[in-house]
This record gives sequence, C-alpha cells and structure tokens, in this order.
Amino acid sequence: MTRVRRRATRPPRWVALALAVILALGTTELGVSRADDEPGAEAPTAGGGTAQAGGDAPVQTDEPVGEEEAEPDEPVVLDTVYDDERVGREQSEKVDAAIGIVKDDALNAYVSAVGKRLARYAPRYRFDYTFRVVDQDEPNAFALPGGFVFVSRGLLALTNSEDELANVLGHEIAHVAARHAAARQQVTDAMPGIVRFLSMGSLAGYNRSQEKEADRLGQGIAGLAGYDPAGMVQFLKDLEFTERLRLGASRRPYFLDTHPSTRRRSAVAAQRAHMIAWKRKPGIARDRADYLRRIEGIVVGISAAEGIFRGERFIHADLGFTIRFPSGWETRNTHTAVGAVAPDRSAQVVLEAAGPGTDLEKALARFAAKAEASGLRIESTEKIKLAGKDALRADAHVSSRFGGVDVLLTFLIHHGQTFRITGVARREKDRNRTLFLNVARSFRPLPAELRKGIREDRLRIVEARPGETLAQLSERTGNRWPLNRTAVMNAVFATDALEPGQLVKVAIAQPYRVDR
Ligand SMILES: [Zn+2]
Repeated sequence: MTRVRRRATRPPRWVALALAVILALGTTELGVSRADDEPGAEAPTAGGGTAQAGGDAPVQTDEPVGEEEAEPDEPVVLDTVYDDERVGREQSEKVDAAIGIVKDDALNAYVSAVGKRLARYAPRYRFDYTFRVVDQDEPNAFALPGGFVFVSRGLLALTNSEDELANVLGHEIAHVAARHAAARQQVTDAMPGIVRFLSMGSLAGYNRSQEKEADRLGQGIAGLAGYDPAGMVQFLKDLEFTERLRLGASRRPYFLDTHPSTRRRSAVAAQRAHMIAWKRKPGIARDRADYLRRIEGIVVGISAAEGIFRGERFIHADLGFTIRFPSGWETRNTHTAVGAVAPDRSAQVVLEAAGPGTDLEKALARFAAKAEASGLRIESTEKIKLAGKDALRADAHVSSRFGGVDVLLTFLIHHGQTFRITGVARREKDRNRTLFLNVARSFRPLPAELRKGIREDRLRIVEARPGETLAQLSERTGNRWPLNRTAVMNAVFATDALEPGQLVKVAIAQPYRVDR
C-alpha cells in the first residue's frame, strides 16, 4: 500500500480520493500480498513472472490507492547520520509491512553475509548495514538511509553468480554511504514500487549523477571485497534482456534506441571493470554451483503465500480463507489488501485486516473514528450472520467536492482476527450494494480440497544431459518458463549448445507449502 502510483495509471480522481480515505485507514497487516498479479494475468505461471520483470520501467500495475495519496509524507531532509538511521528504520518497517520479507532464514543469512562483507569497504559514513530479501517478483534493489538494503527474490532469481549480487549490493551500499537520500531527496521516493534498481534519476529518487556515483563506488566496493567488478556488467545485461522480453522486442524494436540508459550504463561499467585493480577472494558461496544451490527454491512469479486468484475466487492458504469477487471485475492483490475494481472504475471492494481480537463493534468504532476526519459518516449498522458467525454491517457515506460515495462496510471474524470488507460505489448504489453483500457472503474458511490444489513455481537447478538443447531440457524437466525467458534467466542464448552437466535454472510448479 505504500507504493506510489504513477500518474498515467491512476484511476479517476474520485476513486483516488474516496479510496484513499477508505484504504488509508487500513493500517493493520493482513499479510495478503503485493500487487504483482496484473489485471487478467493468470494465477501462478511463469508468464506472470515475465510480465512483471524488468528493472527500468515503472510498475504498470494498478493497485488500490495507497495511503501515500491520502497523506503524502513530508519531504524528509536528513541532517545527521543519526537521522539517517532513525528515518531508515521507520521506512524499513514500512517495507516489511508493505511488501514483506521472504521467509527463508538461510537465504536472508546468505545475502546478509555477502552484504556485510562488502559493507566493510563502504566509504565515508559507517552504518550498521542490514540486508534482506523482499517478496517481490520484479528484479529490484533499494536502500534506505542508515544502511537498510533490500533485494527482491526476482533479482536473486535473475542473477547467476555471487559477483553479480555483490555488485548490486555494492551499488546500494554506495547510495547509503554517500548519503544520497540526504541530499535533499525525498526518502519516500526511495520506497519500492517506484524505485527500480536500473531506474535513473526521477524514478529512483536519486539523480543521474548519484546513480553514476553509486555505480562507480559500488563496483569499487565489490573489487575491494574480492569480487569481480564485471559482475555489474553481467547484471545490467541480464536486466536489459529481461526488460526487452517484458516489453516484447518484436513489437518495440526501437525501445533500446529510445531508452539507451541501460546499455550506456553497462558500457561504462564494462570499461570501469577493466580499470579497477582487484584480487579474487573466496566468496561466501564456493562457486557458481554453490551460488545456484543457495538461491534454488526461490518462488518465481506469484507467491502463493500472498494468496492466489482462480478467476474471481481468491484463496489464501496461510490465513485459511477464500472469498469471491464480482464477476468481470479486475482483481488486485497487494501485501496488505486484496480486492476488485469494476470495469468502469466506478466501484471497488477490498478485504483487509481490521485488527486483532474479535470485537466487531470496537473495530467499527476504530475505523469510524479515523474515517470521520475524511468525511465518512456511518449511517446505519446491523448485526448479521456470515457463514453462521457473527458479523457487523455498516452503511456509510463519504461526501466530497467530487460528489458523494456510498460505502458498505462488513466486519467479520476469522481465526481470532477481525477483517473488514469495504465496498465503495460512486454510482448504482443498489446494484453495487448487492454485489458487495455477495462478496461478504462468499468469505469462508478454506476447504481442504482447495488448499491441496494450490501450486506455485519455484526456482530449480537442473543438470543438462549430453547433447541436450535448452528446449529439450525444458521439456524434460517441465520447466514453466518459455524458452526465451529461460535463456535470459541463465544468461545464455536459446540456441546455444549446453555442456553436459551444465547447471540450468528452471521454474517448476509444485504444491504450495509454507517452507521451501
Ligand atoms: Zn541506484
């Protein structure tokens, strides 16, 4: 919810306004999902992952409007190193809540070990760096002031060596060490969703010269720590190809001509890599094979832990419920909320956590108190039963200078926690009200057979057999990625001959389970 939307993808202004009012109030953590399922995208497929990949471009997914729109954070100007740590810690907690950290201790520990080794060579200010893997399918890395560095699982899946990872982390350490965020940047701009590792200037909240400096310092840090500074070049190539795949090279042949930044950046990095004097030190991972084994098992594409859609039905295995949204509506799943928007954008219905405990009246009172300031008035409340359990329904109205908005709130209890379903309609009050009621009625504990059917794609490392092509290997292993994507993920050409025993990354569907 903390992602900031780009203007081009914003819904009509009234939606932003009304939903900002409603959604800004949902501050509790649902642990549902980040918004990486594109409208119309199928549930966990490698294709979904492809559509999401890409470093340079902004996220195109429409998400429910986040709290930033309701209450844009004040620009943060950092004066002292102490401020860096304080602000970074606050923002870091927001990242945890908004995107989620991959629940894999070994993986986080590994990335952290690589990062800490690099951080010893960070210039200027010393911070106590932390490194964590965020549950995001897009290749992404970002740093918050004070030494909080994040890389996405999508970025890890894309890399092929510790050298590449080290250069990425070095780049982020450089942003922190050089206190780029302090240089009158808005720290909020460094939040995920708008920042892309590759992105230049305005998107990242860093300017071009800061990006250049981070590339330069980052490669230097990598070299000092005993990593090949050319790892940066390889990583930028991976990203460039990912980007090309995502945009469809055939349809946009001139994309790279109009967006030459990646290539130019890659060329500069290549030149610099030759000039940096460095000496290889043994990595945390022994070799490429060890590196690949360490990232093996990462979820690729949509993570079932975030909940998945089957058509309009949403299934959340960890929270153990299912809910069905109106037919034909565009569904969305973010880390903190799940919902659907009417095709004409005139209505939206969202499910969120409404706090611990089972006191429905209290949950409504908390919501109403916050919402009052935004012009929301509760008009009537009614105790009801949903799937045999107590629930509370409230009709409300929001007046604004863009007109009135009808709101139907349903508070319900599930596993000792309160949830809120918020239906917001600008038009067709009665029709939408019926739809919202049906959504609330569809909420129920997850039946075992639905849970059993949940699958997700995970990164697996397989050995090529003698004479096998990439296509044959894919066929044999049930690889879910299309051939060209498989080639990009492995930094090979689809037509390259594979060496016998060569390790190849593939995406394999498997039943969902909480651990790896
Ligand atoms: Zn950067």
